[in-house]
Amino acid sequence: MSEEVERWKEKYLQLAERQEQLEARWEQRVDLLRRSLVRSSLAVEGADPAVERCLHEMREILRDGDLDEGLSLLVPRLEKAVLESERHRQERAVRLTEALHRLVSQLLGMSVPAELRKPLKRFAKELDQRAARLRELPVLLGELSDLQGQVLDLQGLAAPQQSGFLKRLFGGRDMPLAPPAAERGEETPPPAAVNEVDAGPVVVEALGLPKPAVQAAPLLEDMPLAEAPAAEEAIAETEAEQNAAAYALPDSPEPAFSVVADRVEATLGSLLDSLHLPEQHQPQLQTLRARIQHGLNWYELVPVLDDLAMLMIAFSDQGQRDFENYLQTLNERLTAMQENLLAAHQGHNEGRDAAQALDAELREQVGGLQDSMRQAKDLTSLKQVVEARLDGLLTTVDTYRQQRSEQEQKLGERLQQLVSRVGSLEQAARGLRGHLEEQRQKALQDPLTGLPNRAAWNERLELEFARWQRYGGDLLLAVLDVDHFKRVNDGYGHLAGDRVLKIIGTELHKRLRKTDFIARFGGEEFVVLLPNTPYEAGLQLMESLRESIGSCPFHFKGERVAITLSAGLTAFSEGDSTERAFERADSALYRAKDSGRNRVEAA
Ligand code: GH3
Ligand code: MG
Ligand code: MG
Repeated sequence: MSEEVERWKEKYLQLAERQEQLEARWEQRVDLLRRSLVRSSLAVEGADPAVERCLHEMREILRDGDLDEGLSLLVPRLEKAVLESERHRQERAVRLTEALHRLVSQLLGMSVPAELRKPLKRFAKELDQRAARLRELPVLLGELSDLQGQVLDLQGLAAPQQSGFLKRLFGGRDMPLAPPAAERGEETPPPAAVNEVDAGPVVVEALGLPKPAVQAAPLLEDMPLAEAPAAEEAIAETEAEQNAAAYALPDSPEPAFSVVADRVEATLGSLLDSLHLPEQHQPQLQTLRARIQHGLNWYELVPVLDDLAMLMIAFSDQGQRDFENYLQTLNERLTAMQENLLAAHQGHNEGRDAAQALDAELREQVGGLQDSMRQAKDLTSLKQVVEARLDGLLTTVDTYRQQRSEQEQKLGERLQQLVSRVGSLEQAARGLRGHLEEQRQKALQDPLTGLPNRAAWNERLELEFARWQRYGGDLLLAVLDVDHFKRVNDGYGHLAGDRVLKIIGTELHKRLRKTDFIARFGGEEFVVLLPNTPYEAGLQLMESLRESIGSCPFHFKGERVAITLSAGLTAFSEGDSTERAFERADSALYRAKDSGRNRVEAA
């Protein structure tokens, strides 16, 4: 028996030893697994906040938690977070690919030479596939950046100032914000920029200028890092923050003008040389040339460009009028031609009817001749001959009629084609006229503020003046000028100055009635026409405009910037002219300036 016990004991000890070895190996494996999980969780850090949170918890559990329970609760959450993160990653990849496609097509739209067009197209073709792989991204961006550099070098756009000037010159600042007047169903082109305050930062961004708003505001800038709101929260700005952003003035670190002076002078000079302006604009052209050649600086550049734009508008206006006249004449000629052709076509149809009638008559006569011949009893042989001849005659007439009818049909078709061709020509001319009208509307708009410009003002002033002469009543005219505007430019840069002008334009316009008219007269001057407005009411309105601008919360990097304006108001009176009324309002404005600014003077 004791031998049996001994054997069992031996077996138990062997098994216990084996169990210990297995446990030790198991511990070793768990430890290895734990370490590799910790390492890999650290490796993916930064991939996604939700995933990262799960991984952090996993490390805690691995370090000193209950593996079984902790992991069984955590793993499903981790799986979900990873799936979500993957979905986000794919969405980002799609957005990125779209943005890269847009960039490539912008570059392709820049009249790129064939040797660059090819690699750009190849890049676009491979883009979808490559952008899906994260590690390809730096390579892709590097390649695109190279291509873009080459395109810009070729286009000569590498210097940022140049594109800025061209944008200003040709009104590209924020034109898309201003829908054409016809769309709004209004008589004249009032500013499109009523909602512009909200759209401000977008506009500035679209032009590639520094962002004016949120980051510059001290609300975010001055907060200690730990308290800074998360990205999502920052997007959900409060109303107050949005309001602050709307009046924030952008920072514009300005390089010394001397850096670009030569280029600007040469570019503007050659632009002026290429303008063949009519005689009456020559003095303005000479003055402008003198201003460009004698000590231009950043601030003077703005009004110089505005004046140049005015000249170009006058120039293109003249060109458009000539073109319109030409189109008008062409149209009249085409209409006359179309009428002639229609008449010819009708006449031709009538001719064909007449020929057919003649033909019928001829047949009748010949038929009669045949009858009478048949009645003759003698001269049989003669009858036969005559009948045979008549047969021949009938065949000839038949053939003739058939040929003629075919010819006439062809001719008719050709005429019809001509008529419809002329019709489509006329339609094209009508389309062109519509396009010209659209261009004209644009030429009447100030690109910076979206308000009507000086040319539009002149037109409207003449119109209201004629109406006033005819029907009488009250017509008021006011000239408004921003106070010490040069200081805004000098203190905060011209971008800030531009933004102030835009906001002032919007503020003034939204406080006027639909029948009133406001225009940017030039620089920092605005002009207003108030039809059917008694003098006292006009004065009150001007005061309210002045106050509203004075209380706009402009700020630059958190510091309040006070902006005010002065105005001169006058009423048209018996025997007045537009020039005299304007001079009166202008002198009143200067009195307002002399008496300390931020006030309205009446004349
Ligand atoms: P005052 O109160 O006497 O009117 O002084 P002011 O500084 O407003 O008047 P001044 O005529 O001396 O200066 C006007 C400045 O406005 C000069 C010019 O550089 C600037 N300016 C004109 N048009 C623009 C523009 O479109 N944008 C910017 N940023 N500045 C402009
Ligand atoms: Mg002025
Ligand atoms: Mg001024």
